[in-house]
Amino acid sequence: HLAREQASTVQQYDPAHDTNAAHRLELLGELRRAIGADDQLTLHYQPKIDLAGGRVTGVEALIRWQHPRLGRVAPDAFIPMAESTSLIRPLTAHVLDLAVRQAKAWADQGTPIPVAVNLSTRCLLDAGFADQVFDLLHRVGLPVSLLKLEITESMVMTDPDRALAVLRTLRSAGVSLSIDDFGTGHSSMTYLQRFPVDELKIDKSFVQAMANSHGDAVLVRTAITLGHNLGLSVVAEGVEDDAAVAALRALGCDVAQGYHYARPMPAEEFDRWLIDYSSRSYTARHAAATPV
Ligand code: C2E
Ligand code: MG
Ligand code: MG
Ligand code: MG
Repeated sequence: HLAREQASTVQQYDPAHDTNAAHRLELLGELRRAIGADDQLTLHYQPKIDLAGGRVTGVEALIRWQHPRLGRVAPDAFIPMAESTSLIRPLTAHVLDLAVRQAKAWADQGTPIPVAVNLSTRCLLDAGFADQVFDLLHRVGLPVSLLKLEITESMVMTDPDRALAVLRTLRSAGVSLSIDDFGTGHSSMTYLQRFPVDELKIDKSFVQAMANSHGDAVLVRTAITLGHNLGLSVVAEGVEDDAAVAALRALGCDVAQGYHYARPMPAEEFDRWLIDYSSRSYTARHAAATPV
C-alpha cells in the first residue's frame, strides 16, 4: 500500500518523483476521497500588496493537502495529476466553494478582500463553468467584484476559442481575470491582447532571477511595459526581499506578492497578519509624516 510504505520514510509525498503507475492511481483515489472528506484539503491565503501605497489589494487562495498518513502533498505535484483526469472538476468546485465562503466571511466582518482562485484549463472548456461560478456567488451572497480568477497562459492555448467564450461571459459579469505565470509556457502577446483580462502576473522565476541576471531584468521590465500598454495591472510574484521591492517600484510595477510580505497562511492567521501589517504601515506612514 502506497500510504503505509511512504508514511515511515517521508514527511512530504511527491508523486512527480514516483514513477509507479499504481501509486499514482492510488493517490488519485486518495485525492477523490479527500475532496469528499472535507478535512484534508484547506486553503491558504497570500496577500498582494500595492507597491505605491502599501495597501493590501487582495489575496490569492492556494490549496493545501494534508494527508493523514502521507503528510503534506504539494499542489505542484497533485494539481497537474488531477488536471490530467476529470478529478480537476470536483476539485476546482471544492476550492471555489471554500474561497467564496471565506471571501463572504471577510466581507461580513467589514474587511472585504478580493480573493483570487487558480483555474485549470479543463474548467474553461466546460460551457457551463461560468454559470456554476455565478450560482455559487449567488448562493453564498458574495459580490462578483470580490472574486478573481487566475489562469495560466499555457492552459488557455489548448482550445482558445472555447476558453475565450467562457472568459468573456465571466468578465462581462464582473469577475476579474488574471493571466498567471506570465513569461512561461506558450507565451503569446496575441492571446494576451485577445483575452479579456485585468491583470498580468509575472512568473516568480523572472522576479527571483532579475537581481543577478540582465536578461531576466529586461524580461520583467518588458512585461511591465507590455501590461501597462494593454491597460492591465501588473503583479510580480515571488517577491522575497527589499531589493526586489525597490527594483519593481522603480520599474512602475503595480502590485507585489511574495515571502517578503507574507507566506500563504490559513485564514485565521491571515486575519492576525492583516491587523499587524495595518498597524505597522500606519506607524510607518505616521513616522514619515512627522518632522524630526
Ligand atoms: P501559482 O498560482 O503561480 O502560485 C504561486 C506559488 O508561488 C505558490 O506555490 C506560492 O506559495 C508560491 N510563492 C509565493 N510567494 C513566493 C515567494 O516569495 N517565493 C517562492 N519561492 N514561492 C512563492 P504553491 O502554493 O505551492 O502552488 C503552486 C501552484 O499550484 C500554483 O502556482 C498554482 O498554479 C497551483 N495551485 C495552487 N492552488 C491551486 C488551486 O486551488 N487550483 C488550481 N487549479 N491550481 C492551484
Ligand atoms: Mg496563481
Ligand atoms: Mg503564478
Ligand atoms: Mg504557477
